[in-house]
Amino acid sequence: MSAPLDSSKLTVTRTTTPSQPKPNDQLVFGQTFTDHMLTVEWTEEKGWANPEIKPYAPLSLDPATIVFHYAFELFEGMKAYRTEDNKITMFRPDMNMKRMNKSAARICLPKFDEEELLKLIGTLIEQDKHLIPVGQGYSLYIRPTMIGTSVGLGVSTPDKALLYVICSPVGPYYKTGFKAVKLEATDYATRAWPGGVGDKKLGANYAPCVLPQLQAAERGYQQNLWLFGPEHNITEVGTMNAFFVFQNLATGKKELVTAPLDGTILEGVTRDSILNLARERLDSNEWDINERYCTITEVAERSKNGELVEAFGSGTAAIVSPIKEIGWKGESINVPLLPGEQSGALTKQIAAWIGDIQYGRQEHKGWSRV
Ligand code: PMP
Repeated sequence: MSAPLDSSKLTVTRTTTPSQPKPNDQLVFGQTFTDHMLTVEWTEEKGWANPEIKPYAPLSLDPATIVFHYAFELFEGMKAYRTEDNKITMFRPDMNMKRMNKSAARICLPKFDEEELLKLIGTLIEQDKHLIPVGQGYSLYIRPTMIGTSVGLGVSTPDKALLYVICSPVGPYYKTGFKAVKLEATDYATRAWPGGVGDKKLGANYAPCVLPQLQAAERGYQQNLWLFGPEHNITEVGTMNAFFVFQNLATGKKELVTAPLDGTILEGVTRDSILNLARERLDSNEWDINERYCTITEVAERSKNGELVEAFGSGTAAIVSPIKEIGWKGESINVPLLPGEQSGALTKQIAAWIGDIQYGRQEHKGWSRV
C-alpha cells in the first residue's frame, strides 16, 4: 500500500544556531533563507515517507539524478504575511496547492494531499516566525518544490521524488512606491504554446525566458511582453499575468481585459483574485471584465485613438506592476499614468484592495489562512 502524505507523522529537528532577523532594508528577494526546511521523500513502492522539518542545509544528490538531466522539477511561489494584529496568514494557499498538483501530474511526479501539505507548511512557518518581517509589503516568500530523484539516464517516470519547502523573508517589490516598467513586445521568442506546459509551474519554462529578457534589456526594456501566434495575442508579461484597461470613447464604458486560460497562461492566483474583486466591486454599468484574446495590434490602435487607459502585470511578488510603455515594431505605445504618479487609477486601487486583505485589514471570503 502506497502511503499518503501525512502531516501527523512529522518529525521536527530544531537548529542549534537560530538566526536573528535581518534589518528590513537588507532583505534581497530570494537571498536570505529561514533556519528550517521541510522535506518529504516519496517512492513508487512505499508512497510518502514521514515528513521532516530540519535545519536548512544543502541536498546531496547523485550526478545522474533525473532532475538534472530531464528537468523533472516543479515549484510554487506563495507568501505568508504578518498582519497588523500580529497573526501570520497565507493568501489563498489552497490555489497554490491545486496548481502544484496539476504541475506534478503533468510531469509524472506524485500527487499529494493538499490540506496535509498546507498543515506541514504551517508548522514550518511556525518554526521561524520571528524571521517574518513586519510592515506593509514585507512578507515570507514560500517556495514549495518537487523534484524527481531517481538515479539513471533513462528518460522515464521517476520512481523516487523529493518534495521540499524553503522560505525567504522578503521586502516590497517597489521600495518607494510603484515604478512603472517599459516592455518589449516579443515575437522573436515564444514563452508557451497550445498543447505545451505554459500553464504549469515547471522550472523548464523559466530558463529559456532569460535570454529574451536580456535581449530586451539591451534595447532598454525591463521585461518581455510575450506574444503568441500570427495574430500576436498578448499572453503574459515577464513572469506575471497581463491586464489592460480600455475605455470605449463612443459609449464611455471601460473594460478590464486579461488573456483567457487556454493552456498557454499560468493560472495566476493574483490574476484570479483581481478578476474576482473587479467583478464584485466595479460598477457593471461602467465596467466590463473580460477574459478574452487581445492582440498587440489592438493595444497599438486603441492607444492611437485614446482608448488605452492602463496596463499592468499581476503576480505574487508585486501584486501589480504598472506598465508605462510598450515597444513594438520600432514604435512606442505609451500607456497613460495618473498625473505625477507611477500607475493608473485601477492599478492603484487593486494594489490597495489586495494589500488590505493580505495584511488583515479586511476579511474577504476566507482568502487568508492563519
Ligand atoms: N505568470 C508566470 C509565468 C508566473 O511565473 C507567475 C508567478 N510568478 C505568474 C504569472 C503570476 O502568478 P501568481 O499570481 O500566482 O503569483
